[in-house]
Amino acid sequence: MLFRDIIGQEAVKQQLRLSVREGRIPHAQLLAGQSGIGKLQLALAYAQYLNCPHRTDDDSCGQCPTCLQYQKLQHPDLHFAFPIVKTDEGDTCDAFMEPWREMILEQGYFDIDDWYKALGVETKQGMIYEKESAEILRKLSLKPFGDGYKVMIIWQPEKMNAACANKLLKLLEEPPVQTVFLLVSEHPEQLLPTIQSRVQLIRVSGLPNSTVAEALQQHSQLSETEARDIARIANGSYLQALKKADESEENKQELRDFIALFRDAYTVGVLTNPQQKYDSLRRLRQWSADMADAKVGREKQKHFLQYAQQQVRENYIRNLSQPELNYQLADERDFSVKFAPFIHNGNVEQIMNQLELAERQIEQNGNAKVIFFDLCLQMIVLIKTPKV
Ligand SMILES: [Zn+2]
Repeated sequence: MLFRDIIGQEAVKQQLRLSVREGRIPHAQLLAGQSGIGKLQLALAYAQYLNCPHRTDDDSCGQCPTCLQYQKLQHPDLHFAFPIVKTDEGDTCDAFMEPWREMILEQGYFDIDDWYKALGVETKQGMIYEKESAEILRKLSLKPFGDGYKVMIIWQPEKMNAACANKLLKLLEEPPVQTVFLLVSEHPEQLLPTIQSRVQLIRVSGLPNSTVAEALQQHSQLSETEARDIARIANGSYLQALKKADESEENKQELRDFIALFRDAYTVGVLTNPQQKYDSLRRLRQWSADMADAKVGREKQKHFLQYAQQQVRENYIRNLSQPELNYQLADERDFSVKFAPFIHNGNVEQIMNQLELAERQIEQNGNAKVIFFDLCLQMIVLIKTPKV
């Protein structure tokens, strides 16, 4: 990891670089702050900078064998400890190094929930077990592979169980030579006070909204205004902003699919121009095929059908003229202005039933193309059902 690839955090970067250049290398540092702001990235960039033989004033060279190994998280002097959930596959971090490297290299910013999800565990019971402390000790007793520092990065050290924490404390009291501990924590107050007093604390602040918005815009298709809105909600965390942006992208796509379905169902069912009916029917066939595409996947198909039920409900409620009961985003409201009158007592229940049925059939691994096209045909009939 290079410093220049990390979003913002210029002050911390400067502090870390300076300490290396001046040869003041604390044997244990604690990077503390909220999730999704780049603490782990800073620890990785620092470790690489500390060991790159060709570093400049600003950054590692990024090209020497040491840097290349660090960038793949494969350097033999770079070690990690992080919370895991014991499985048959193993009970120490070594058994989980592959998903761990993938998480950092492919996802970049992530939190503990993302990590558990990657491990396939729902539980929040992840922990750094006592056995890990023996591993940490063993790894740090090895002679360094290169002539640089051995680095032990402990992610979420507050998840260490008590026995592990006590053994770590001993290591911090009598640190092995040429070794640097980097603790990366969201809740430093949960660490043993004796550990807290033996590490140098580096407070990492939330990112300014403008920095988050700018990074977000480079990463996604969002407009400047959308990126700014999301950055404001994300409250300094780039990770939160990314999550919000993903939701909003998915939401927009689902609204487009919802509008396409009902617009064409209306044209076929209600309008009388034969050419328009024909064109709409063709589009619905294509819509079914697109929805059924294997790339979309069952989870997204189900999610869309749930979204459609929610929007049908919102449109029905809209007719009651009690806006405080409505929970729609601006572009959903825009569509509802014209669409809501077509959802009424005469058809709402059957439309909901059909959407639920489709959801169930998708869940039971039915043929998605048939399910979605049948749904289109049902909507054509139901959208012209008169009010009662
Ligand atoms: Zn280098």
